[in-house]
Amino acid sequence: MSSEKTPIAPGSNFIRNIVERDIEHGTYANRPWAGQPGDAATQATGTLDPAKIRTRFPPEPNGYLHIGHAKSICLNFGLARDYDGICHMRFDDTNPEKEEQEYVDSITDAVKWLGFSWDGFGTSHLYYASNYFDFMYRAAEHLIETDKAYVDQQTADEMRANRGTLTEPGKDSAWRNRPVAESLALFRDMRDGKHADGAMILRAKIDMASPNINMRDPAIYRIKRATHHNTGDTWCIYPMYTFAHPIEDALERITHSICTLEFEDQRPFYDWLLENLRDGGLLANPLPKQYEFARLNLTYVVLSKRKLIDLVENKHVNGWDDPRLPTLAGARRRGYTAEGFRLFADRIGVSKADSWIEYTILEDCMRETLNESAERRIAVLDPIKLVIDNYPDGQTEDCFAPNHPLHPELGKRVVPLSKELWIEREDFMETPSKGYFRLFPDNMVRLRYGYVVKCTGFEKDSAGNITTVHCEYLPDTKSGTPGADSIKVKGNIHWVSVPHAYPAEVRLYDRLFKEAHPGAGDRNYLDDLNPDSIKIIHAQLEPALKDANPEDHFQFERHGYFVADKKDSAPSMPIFNRAVTLRDVWQK
Ligand code: ATP
Ligand code: MG
Repeated sequence: MSSEKTPIAPGSNFIRNIVERDIEHGTYANRPWAGQPGDAATQATGTLDPAKIRTRFPPEPNGYLHIGHAKSICLNFGLARDYDGICHMRFDDTNPEKEEQEYVDSITDAVKWLGFSWDGFGTSHLYYASNYFDFMYRAAEHLIETDKAYVDQQTADEMRANRGTLTEPGKDSAWRNRPVAESLALFRDMRDGKHADGAMILRAKIDMASPNINMRDPAIYRIKRATHHNTGDTWCIYPMYTFAHPIEDALERITHSICTLEFEDQRPFYDWLLENLRDGGLLANPLPKQYEFARLNLTYVVLSKRKLIDLVENKHVNGWDDPRLPTLAGARRRGYTAEGFRLFADRIGVSKADSWIEYTILEDCMRETLNESAERRIAVLDPIKLVIDNYPDGQTEDCFAPNHPLHPELGKRVVPLSKELWIEREDFMETPSKGYFRLFPDNMVRLRYGYVVKCTGFEKDSAGNITTVHCEYLPDTKSGTPGADSIKVKGNIHWVSVPHAYPAEVRLYDRLFKEAHPGAGDRNYLDDLNPDSIKIIHAQLEPALKDANPEDHFQFERHGYFVADKKDSAPSMPIFNRAVTLRDVWQK
């Protein structure tokens, strides 16, 4: 452990600088807010927005959140928290085909678990983009009426061919200059279900020769007969994401719309669209501004939705909350902490340059937060028996172990000692290697929180495996008594009393992939799966662990940080998951 304390206070970054500058200049100071999302007329009826800034976290409810999303959540909710603002929880559910309630629930769970809330200024800020379909339709008609959009009847192939390339301009569609009234009538027919899916499309009318391909008359509305989870069969036309997203931001009066770098080329269209709708009186000033940051890439992990679905559906893992998955549901079950994720987000910061973050940085954040918060307990993971031959049969006595060395106020607990104990197999060697200070014939060690014992012999089974070690204890040497220091020993081993032990299943999790960049080069990422990512063992735990509740975290002394599994644990067979080892075992 480094002795340096990590500040939890977030460091500065370019987005914070922008927010601070906007607050200083009063860019968003005089905005009315109607208390709900709405167009210019609605917002004009509002009073001064008590929120200094508005950010948003806008997932599509089509999958489980992963560690990359945690970066975005900590950034957006963290800015709102630190600058007297609010972060909206918005489900971007404009695509009718993919959304499910299961995803909505898992997403709200994960954001709350990370420690954030969308309640503020007397109200909840949980929004669904599909509630804005009426406005989006009106916005599209406005663009048509002002000759900023047209209905295109090219086939998909023609459209692709006429889009041009990075080096060649595109070509205007033959329908581009059709009369406004004709486009308007056709668009209404599209809405009324008079045309087949894909027969025509509404496009913005910008510039087919723009060097930015996203400005070459992007599609904004398509025909799609699909039942939407919220609006049912009301619509058979749906807005494209690039059209919907800026409007969602503007209706919600978002000030800083933060997204990942791949949207950088979309920013000109974002501004074009909102400025046109503002000029037409549909949206209120000041408009939201988009800022881009580098998404999280983490070594030893895949974060692509497609690969995560593949891992789950093809049973390389056991469901979305498998503790080896980088989903937030999995990480939580693994024993990772929300505090650790917040520390991680602050430590990696926010930048404009794509890079890879080492997985050990995440693990270190978990170790640091768990070291602070997790009580210590004793667990013997690979038990052999130690018999104290000179200890009275049937006797039990109390030893006292501190619950947390950094927090004496958490007190001590009783650890019962008796004649027969479980110790770790690796804490005994018949013939000690150089520098081995634990049990071997005639050597003395301290039984942690108990007595000094001297090894007097051992037994093996027919296969030559050690089954039992024998010793004698020195009655004056009990920890915490005046005689404790009378004999100095180099080894100190942990133990659990056999008659008091609490048997449990322990799941030793390790990284899901054995390569830092799964699937790099021309490898299939599945070939990089770590065959030893889980090892299930049967351990002997100290009896105090019977009181563990699901999701309680502990440091098992000398082993690492563990959590009581919240799903599979049963009173008859408790289960503990290893979150992270005490030290980095992957560093070469
Ligand atoms: P898809 O590939 O389906 O678009 P997505 O991972 O972008 O998936 P969304 O639900 O659209 O999923 O993401 C919600 C928010 O999380 C977005 O604002 C997105 O920018 C952010 N986000 C997603 N992945 C990462 C990542 N690896 N690092 C940082 N932010 C991310
Ligand atoms: Mg996305």
